[in-house]
Parts: sequence; structure tokens; C-alpha cells
Amino acid sequence: MSKRYGFVMLVYRCIDCKACQVGCWAENEVPLGKSRNWITKDGPKGKFPDLITDFLPGNCMHCGNAPCVNVCPTGASYQTEEGIVLVNKKKCIGCKYCMVACPYNARYYHPEEKTADKCTMCVHRLKEGLQPACVSTCVGGARVFGDLNDPDSQVSRLLRKHRAVVQLPQANTQPNVYYVYDSPVDKGGIAP
Ligand code: SF4
Ligand code: SF4
Repeated sequence: MSKRYGFVMLVYRCIDCKACQVGCWAENEVPLGKSRNWITKDGPKGKFPDLITDFLPGNCMHCGNAPCVNVCPTGASYQTEEGIVLVNKKKCIGCKYCMVACPYNARYYHPEEKTADKCTMCVHRLKEGLQPACVSTCVGGARVFGDLNDPDSQVSRLLRKHRAVVQLPQANTQPNVYYVYDSPVDKGGIAP
């Protein structure tokens, strides 16, 4: 069976330090003012004084049913066997159809290259046996990356152990980025 790469975001571990964003900017020479990944704020929630704010690390969801790939008129947007959604810069004409089609706002227009641009899961690092830069730089251990088809990978073990959700399930994009909200420590367990 081929690999299927994905992320499990441990929301309870994210402290909104943005080290992942800085790591990605540096690794991928992301143009000024643009970003391939982000942290969104969910909250404050609850009833005063017991309020809580969750921080959700995000990036391209590398959707199994990717609208950006489906609308691309030149075939520049494509998905690898391992599920990584990429842009072939040689084929991209900068029409921005994919940017409009993406329900997660995960793409931007690269002003110098005049093409669509986005998270690549740091495919160049994966080839070297390294983790994506955002995962390596995450000080909280909130971003976990691996092969969802390997039952022994950390991502698979986390998904077996915890209830996980995807963003915008109603969009039927089949995201390969999962979110775990509940800390096992809060429930008396041991953090993964
Ligand atoms: S999150 Fe957006 S850019 Fe990424 S695969 Fe899904 S539709 Fe495409
Ligand atoms: S580096 Fe980790 S802890 Fe910091 S903001 Fe990014 S995901 Fe959250």
C-alpha cells in the first residue's frame, strides 16, 4: 500500500507562539506578507470566569477530494500518490481559479513567480527523511506528521486513541489534516 501523508494537530498543545510559521517562512522562502501556514483562534469559549481559547495550527489540508485540483484548467495543480497536493509551476498560468475554489483559503498568489503557491508538506525535506519544517520547529509538539496508512505511525496511533475532527466536513474535501482537542492529561492519561 502506498503512503498517505497527513497531519494530526494536537490543539491542546498549541500555545500560539508561531514558531511553525517562522520555520515555514525561512525554509520555503515564502514571499513577504504571505503565509503557507497559520494559527487560528477558537474562542474565548465557555462561561465567565471559566473561559478557554483554543489555537488551531493550520495549512493546506491536502484534501483527498481537492477542489483546487478539480478546477485547475492546465493540470498544474495535482496530487501525488502519497496525497500531497502540489503546484507544477511550469504549468501554472496564475489564473487563481484554485485560490477561489479552496474553502480553507490555503493558497496565495506568488508575486514574483506569478503562480499559485501553497504548503508542499516540505516534500523536499521528506525526500531527505526529514519532517516538514513546521513540525520540526513546533516547540509545543502540537503538529504531528506521518503516514496515515501505516498503523504504527504516530499519526495513526493518535487517531486510534483520540476523537479527531476535520475542518469544514460539509465541504466534502476529505482533508488529511485532523484536529484533536481533548488533552489526555486532563482525563488523567499520559500525553502522547
Ligand atoms: S486545502 Fe485548499 S489548496 Fe489545499 S488541497 Fe484542499 S482545496 Fe486544495
Ligand atoms: S509552533 Fe507549534 S505551538 Fe507554536 S504556534 Fe505553531 S503549532 Fe502552535
